[in-house]
Amino acid sequence: MSSQDQAHTGTRRARAAVVRSKGAAFSIENVQIGPPAEHEVLVRVVAVGICHTDLIVRDQYYPFPLPGVLGHEGSGVVEEVGAGVTHVSPGDHVVMTFMSCGLCRFCLRGEPAYCSDFYSLNVGGARKDGSTGTCDSHGHALHDHFFGQSSFGTFALAHSRNVVKVPKNIPLEILGPLGCGIQTGAGAILNSLKVRSGDSVAVFGVGAVGLSAVMAARVAGATTIIALDLNPERLRLALELGATQSVDSGNEDAVAAVQRISGGGVDYSLDTSGRPTVLRQAIDCLAIRGTCGIVGAPPLQTEASFDVNMLMIPGRSIRGICEGDSLASEFIPQLIALYAQGRFPYDRLIKFYDFEDIDTAMQDAARGTTIKAVLRMPVKP
Ligand SMILES: [Zn+2]
Ligand SMILES: [Zn+2]
Repeated sequence: MSSQDQAHTGTRRARAAVVRSKGAAFSIENVQIGPPAEHEVLVRVVAVGICHTDLIVRDQYYPFPLPGVLGHEGSGVVEEVGAGVTHVSPGDHVVMTFMSCGLCRFCLRGEPAYCSDFYSLNVGGARKDGSTGTCDSHGHALHDHFFGQSSFGTFALAHSRNVVKVPKNIPLEILGPLGCGIQTGAGAILNSLKVRSGDSVAVFGVGAVGLSAVMAARVAGATTIIALDLNPERLRLALELGATQSVDSGNEDAVAAVQRISGGGVDYSLDTSGRPTVLRQAIDCLAIRGTCGIVGAPPLQTEASFDVNMLMIPGRSIRGICEGDSLASEFIPQLIALYAQGRFPYDRLIKFYDFEDIDTAMQDAARGTTIKAVLRMPVKP
């Protein structure tokens, strides 16, 4: 596809942040984006959050093919729909989330986060049939469809399965992170672990995912919510957002502190850090019959250890959790309703950056000085 085809194919000029090689800075380039294929939705991106996964895929912890376009917490306005799309129309406000096939047994039983094609559909760098929709200014194909969207650009090709219609009375620019990081933390508590009123919860690592878990634990009625982190500012924010106690795990033995505060261990712990030593603490601080959820992503093939008897005899569990078990078309509107009621003030995690400042935003996210960086697109794409 080249610029000469533009008038005939409905190809649009766009700007996108392209990763050309492992760990390289993002290069903001003029690109061409093709029309939506059957069941696809072309979205004019308004804003897009930066998630830890963008950082580790740029650095090739997960082998996404390059050159390509990342970005997977986009929100925007439907520009055009492909054949067969009925649930959204041009002008609708939408949040984009992860992609799933809709056909495998996990999708069919309502667990799209565990789609058997999850990896190829989200990190494969193309549509399921191997085609892409984005070219650079020389007409060379760029890998796209990252998490079914590649939303580090002014337009994104999403799919009817991963586009969620949202109300127009909430600013679109804060909604994108609901599609990944925020729903991961909140969903782990509400959907996966099913925390109930009176339960005790320990959240290891209070970045965007961990703070979302803290807020969700308060929504669920947990009465002991312990935030653990090395960063005192984040711990202070966790206390404002619903944590009942905080533990500076750089200064205190994390397991002993959780056991002391909870009177012998917590019903639920959540490891958001992706570090095996922290995961071990999250397992060791559980009460009898407690469950540890894992949402932190270390490099592929990372191993961790636990004491077998200390898991088996007290009937404890460890659970991997992807995307907070979210059924996004239901869960994202739920989170928006909680936000509108003031019960889930996740906007307090957000710092905005201009799209052109994506590398600064990435650095701040990696350093932890910004909890949830959100890039705002230029008004005219
Ligand atoms: Zn599937
Ligand atoms: Zn993510």
